[in-house]
Amino acid sequence: NRWLIDQNSDFFSKQKRIVLKNCGNINPENIEEAIANHGYLGLAKALKSFSPNEVIEIIKNAKLRGRGGAGFSTGLKWELAANNSTQEKYLICNADEGDPGAFMDRSILEGDPHRLLEGMALAAYAIGASRGYIYCRAEYPLAIKRLKKAIKSAEGMGLLGENILDSGFDFRVNIRLGAGAFVCGEETALIASIEGKRGEPRSKPPFPSESGLFEKATVINNVETLANVPEIIRKGSEWFKKIGTEASPGTKVFALAGKIKKNGLVEVPMGTTPGEIIFDICGGLENDAEFKAAQTGGPSGGCIPIEHLNVPIDYDSLKELGTIMGSGGLIVMDTQTCMVDLAKYFIDFCKDESCGQCTSCRIGTTRMLEVLEKISEGRGEKQDLDLLIEMGEVVKDSSFCGLGQSAPNPVLSTIRYFKDEYLDHIENKHCDSSVCASLFTS
Ligand code: SF4
Repeated sequence: NRWLIDQNSDFFSKQKRIVLKNCGNINPENIEEAIANHGYLGLAKALKSFSPNEVIEIIKNAKLRGRGGAGFSTGLKWELAANNSTQEKYLICNADEGDPGAFMDRSILEGDPHRLLEGMALAAYAIGASRGYIYCRAEYPLAIKRLKKAIKSAEGMGLLGENILDSGFDFRVNIRLGAGAFVCGEETALIASIEGKRGEPRSKPPFPSESGLFEKATVINNVETLANVPEIIRKGSEWFKKIGTEASPGTKVFALAGKIKKNGLVEVPMGTTPGEIIFDICGGLENDAEFKAAQTGGPSGGCIPIEHLNVPIDYDSLKELGTIMGSGGLIVMDTQTCMVDLAKYFIDFCKDESCGQCTSCRIGTTRMLEVLEKISEGRGEKQDLDLLIEMGEVVKDSSFCGLGQSAPNPVLSTIRYFKDEYLDHIENKHCDSSVCASLFTS
């Protein structure tokens, strides 16, 4: 069977797979295989036995938090929309995965699209929505093809569409394609994009749960969040709370990239340490190279140096290290990685992706990149580090949306943990890395 994977290998046996359970094990284009693996059982159970409020209570009690990075309570978000008195409501699945090095959502969409559709139907039932949208980046053609096929198959079997499973509940799903703008992962920009407007964030309040898509109450959840829902409904919130940590139950999917022996997707209980993921599950670094740091949260996050490899990963603990868990990208770097280059790469990415509404984000990221380039080209001065920190704090404090508020993180984090490396560039015109873009003689 070409879909079968060896679950007994170290890489798989040390994981706890909930949302990735079927990925690689079933043919994602065959709904019967999804159903044979408990697909749509949670939906059938909810429609038969639970009121929408009871579904919300189960998710609230499970303490499921948004896996897109913010970690907001999913049940509370649903409750706010459910309590809104507007007749028409919408459910949106955010599948606009844009972090460099992140491909968690893509794998769920491609490997188990029915799990997502079932999670969406459950969320829609809970909040009272009869229409849902999947906002998926157009760079995921295979995911889009499989989603379309999955929607058609589910409609054909009465699992989506009108009067689902003879319950009187209607729910239709449409796909909308994003054009690759990172800022459209921000929920109000995403809503604007679906409405056919320019994808720019707007001020909140009103929050989408009050006035979202077409000014109706709207819930936006990310792919991984929704993919957790069917299993919670089927097995109960107490089962879910036994996995992970008290404040962040469940698992998290990480996309391992960079200088790692076994790259790919890893699903582990919340609270697992980066060291366990990188060394115990993924076998350490390529060519047994020396570990230097791991970047979490992509362009919005920061790095975890070797001395913090034992910190449990969850929403709260990484903040103290000056980074975030983010949506799950984990880029592993060896000692040949130049941290000035790393900072330049991410701030350049954010500069390009800034929608340009706020001066601090638009100009601040540009100026920060210029200072980094100056350091990299051997023209750096010692006061440039203070300037970078000051500009970073201003951009964080005065930007309008999450993109600008987090754009300086990789720069600030690399200065915090690798200041000596910056000083080596500035004072000695030297970098230990033989691939440093500065081309100093190593
Ligand atoms: Fe646009 Fe940046 Fe302002 Fe966000 S912070 S609204 S991306 S300019």
